[in-house]
Amino acid sequence: MIIALFSDIHSNLEALTSVLKEFKSIVPDKYVLIGDIAGYAANPKECIEIVKSINPITVSGNHDFAMAGLYGMEYFNDNAKCSINWTKGILTDEEKNYLGSMPLLYEDKNFTAVHGSLNSPEEFNYIFYYTDAKETFRLMKNDICFVAHTHRPEIFSEGGNAPAYSGNKKIKLDKNKKYIINIGSIGQPRDGDPRASYALFDTKNYTIEIRRVEYNIIETQRKILASGLPKILATRLSAGK
Ligand code: ZN
Repeated sequence: MIIALFSDIHSNLEALTSVLKEFKSIVPDKYVLIGDIAGYAANPKECIEIVKSINPITVSGNHDFAMAGLYGMEYFNDNAKCSINWTKGILTDEEKNYLGSMPLLYEDKNFTAVHGSLNSPEEFNYIFYYTDAKETFRLMKNDICFVAHTHRPEIFSEGGNAPAYSGNKKIKLDKNKKYIINIGSIGQPRDGDPRASYALFDTKNYTIEIRRVEYNIIETQRKILASGLPKILATRLSAGK
């Protein structure tokens, strides 16, 4: 089975549309969204519609929960706060409820998905370093936990360092190891590569591939600026920061 995993769209319609084109040629058996459909860019409604249309397994992100009033605004910086308030102003109650209705955790016999970490998913903790990953490894009930939230694609293996990772490389996973796999961000990558990031998990061959996709950044930036959102939310996209 091929599972396509994506997250942190952050209202970036152009990035999501480019990734969707790839999905259409891959035809995955299953889709998994690991949170943060909305926030930051200018097309939250369109992104919600597209996500609904492909009917993925979903887990919620901190921005999604904030839109629904389920997560405190005090946890966000000023630019994020500004974009959350702007987004809340244009979403319908139905759209906000949809964002708030997504669960915090997905778990089956093969894998887990959570936006931040398994220790208190409702707190949306970040896994930046191996020390941040330890609690999640301990709480995992299967061998793979997919995460997002940092907007940096990365793979941690239990008891070891993250394998060297470069884009568009397929990694064969070891069946005797546990992994935490960060799939990166569709709409606001922060690893220095501005291209949208998503992952393909091949359950039969037990491989993971993080793919990067170019999109029309200039158009996304134009719309962010035209909406009166903070300028930094536009400029950071071309730097991938
Ligand atoms: Zn995010």
